[in-house]
Amino acid sequence: MARIIAIGDGMDEAINAASVILALGRPVAIPTETVYGLAADATNPAAITSIYETKGRPRFNPLICHMADLDMAEQHAEFDPLSRRLAEHFWPGPLTLVLALKPESDIHPLATAGLDSVGIRVPVGFTGDLIRHFGRPLAAPSANSSGKISPTSAAHVDGDLGDRINLVIDGGACEVGVESTILKVEDGEIHLLRPGGVSVEDIEAFAGVPVQRPKIAGAAIIEAPGMLASHYAPNAGVRLNATSVGRLEALLNFGNTAVAGQDDSRMVLNLSPAGDLAEAAANLFDYLKQADATGAVAIAVAPVPDTGLGEAINDRLVRAAAPRDAEGPVE
Ligand code: AMP
Ligand code: MG
Repeated sequence: MARIIAIGDGMDEAINAASVILALGRPVAIPTETVYGLAADATNPAAITSIYETKGRPRFNPLICHMADLDMAEQHAEFDPLSRRLAEHFWPGPLTLVLALKPESDIHPLATAGLDSVGIRVPVGFTGDLIRHFGRPLAAPSANSSGKISPTSAAHVDGDLGDRINLVIDGGACEVGVESTILKVEDGEIHLLRPGGVSVEDIEAFAGVPVQRPKIAGAAIIEAPGMLASHYAPNAGVRLNATSVGRLEALLNFGNTAVAGQDDSRMVLNLSPAGDLAEAAANLFDYLKQADATGAVAIAVAPVPDTGLGEAINDRLVRAAAPRDAEGPVE
């Protein structure tokens, strides 16, 4: 099992221990406001390889590179004016921008899967402090086996990857609970590559231009190859927009309406009794895991509105429900 150091036991100890592992070219699991990340030195090919190996992640699926701040990000990527405005406003925070990689950047091509672009994010809290201390960008996908549910607690990480990694930094439950929103600006237009922790509504309200969603369903997959069908897969099946639940199923409800059959079901969890989408996002992955652990044959999920953070929640649920043999990369 991995060593677990809680940030509450001392920030310096956590940062120093994580830095030692990173300097050895090994990955370390770290808390971010979105989900727990499996972080390694983005400039070190052996370190990046160990991320892919630890997760069982396909290598053509590029990794998001995390920076301490916009200044550090500008050393590695070209910012068009709109991307810079978005970065200034939403960083640190759950927003990833896909930008042109600067030729002088020392981010290793294994992290970008050889693309001439790079996905960059500046996270809130511990991870930002760690990157500042370590001095190099950290490539960090979610700290789970490829295709499985993303972790929002140190215990989730330990249960999945604990025997494959040395260290988990425990920062408590992730505040946002779903991964970052990924955007790419092209010719002054904002394209959504993945819905996530910043809502499209908030981006549009700030930017003053509409966010373009892919015209053909699934087109974002081409831009963001990690965005594929089966992902976030529990062992149980997942049944969406459920208005009733069976005896062998577990229920994830949303809002204050009772669901037919819930009293006889395996388990009832409510993502947010008050119908608050931010609360539902924060609970989503933990509740999927809890429901799965009951051994239910399927997890029935009540409808979740597709507005605000609901877009990211529904994106994850659709992929949790996707056929497991869907072709293409999972991550
Ligand atoms: P994650 O697995 O949460 O770290 O997110 C990785 C996602 O970011 C994947 O879907 C990648 O395809 C996407 N991504 C990272 N870098 C790029 C890039 N340069 N261009 C397009 N998508 C990227
Ligand atoms: Mg992931």
